[in-house]
Amino acid sequence: LTSGLETAWNKLKGEEVLTKENIAEPMRDIRRALLEADVSLPVVRRFVQAISDQAVGTGVIRGVRPDQQLVKIVNDELVKLMGGEVSELVFAKTGPTVILLAGLQGVGKTTVSAKLALYLQKLGKNCMLIAGDVYRPAAIDQLVILGEQVGVPVYAAGTEIKPAEIARQGLAEARKRNVDVVIMDTAGRLQINKTMMDELKEVKRVLNPTEVLLVVDAMTGQEAAALVTTFNLEIGITGAILTKLDGDSRGGAALSVKEVSGKPIKLVGRGERMEDLEPFYPDRMAGRILGMGDVLSFVEKAQEVMRQEDAEELQKKIMSAKFDFNDFLKQTRAVAQMGSMSRVIGMIPGMGKVTPAQIREAEKNVKMMEAMIEAMTPEEREKPELLAESPARRKRVAQDSGKTEQQVSQLVAQLFQMRVRMKNLMGVMEGGSLPALSN
Ligand code: GDP
Ligand code: MG
Repeated sequence: LTSGLETAWNKLKGEEVLTKENIAEPMRDIRRALLEADVSLPVVRRFVQAISDQAVGTGVIRGVRPDQQLVKIVNDELVKLMGGEVSELVFAKTGPTVILLAGLQGVGKTTVSAKLALYLQKLGKNCMLIAGDVYRPAAIDQLVILGEQVGVPVYAAGTEIKPAEIARQGLAEARKRNVDVVIMDTAGRLQINKTMMDELKEVKRVLNPTEVLLVVDAMTGQEAAALVTTFNLEIGITGAILTKLDGDSRGGAALSVKEVSGKPIKLVGRGERMEDLEPFYPDRMAGRILGMGDVLSFVEKAQEVMRQEDAEELQKKIMSAKFDFNDFLKQTRAVAQMGSMSRVIGMIPGMGKVTPAQIREAEKNVKMMEAMIEAMTPEEREKPELLAESPARRKRVAQDSGKTEQQVSQLVAQLFQMRVRMKNLMGVMEGGSLPALSN
């Protein structure tokens, strides 16, 4: 998706006005890119139409490049398509908040149950889990183990009783314990079938849940649209959780969910660790889809590892595009510390989609970059221009780090590329450098 859309923008760079003619080709590319990203066809059609209408109607704005204008329009429409704002979880006014999780087998329901409990505990909520997958004894054990891991009690009643009965008992237990939030894990199936839906309806009747969240695997692609529609019609959902966004998924699911069901994605799973659950930010997702990386999410992740002031400093530098080699080093080290590079790499501007082989490669690169940056003088680290201007300096760095001059040049070029991307991203995100567009 990333590279396809980028090509589309580049084609517009030299133009001065958005016309039906000059957006035709970028629009075709956008359409193709979205289809390749597994967005369902009707959604793509509506989306492309909306953008074309808006773009052609837009007057020329002095100081704004047409490609930036189109980026802004596409960005805004993507954000709108995905629900606009962050959709917060709803909590019950009295009594425990009840969250029912539903979804097909293997999408990550059990994992999400425990992740969500941890997430809510961090917000100061007292949680309890109910093990409702009676079809596989291993599923109950799995939840019990995860519950222990995150320090949340699990109500399990074995596999011999009906899920609705487990729900009733579990809810009674939750009331007795005065918990704030009770989360029920349920059994999935490989495909949608009547038994599953009937079971879920029963459970829903018993629990009268505050939230019914459909867990969707981001890899589902196009089928996500049909899946969400069916679950919403059959049992009625209040939102969705998109899992495995750290993997090789193409993002199409994220674009379709809200559009076809009217229900927002509330949270996303970005990895197998219990901490890997976050709110869904439509604007960041749009930025990611647009190939400009997810700087904000990245900075947020980095904050967990770096000292607060360091992170703020880094964010400021990213925003002002003064990012130097010290920041580069801090950033790559923070990434290494975070363990799961795959999750973070996708958020770095310009990195786009990654495969496991690329991740291994990236980890090797981090070591190499560190060696080169360590061979720089403090002045060179702060002023990368010095290296850009002086082959002699690059040669010295290469010799001292045992790398080739070409590798040093590449590193310097990479830093400047990142600056440019960050600057572009800021233009789109802040709207600061972009005047409001007339409709
Ligand atoms: P369930 O059948 O819906 O309950 O699915 P599980 O919770 O058992 O998860 C199935 C597999 O997906 C497990 O191996 C999980 O570790 C994995 N998984 C769940 N969520 C994520 C995620 O966000 N990212 C990745 N990479 N793996 C995940
Ligand atoms: Mg399960």
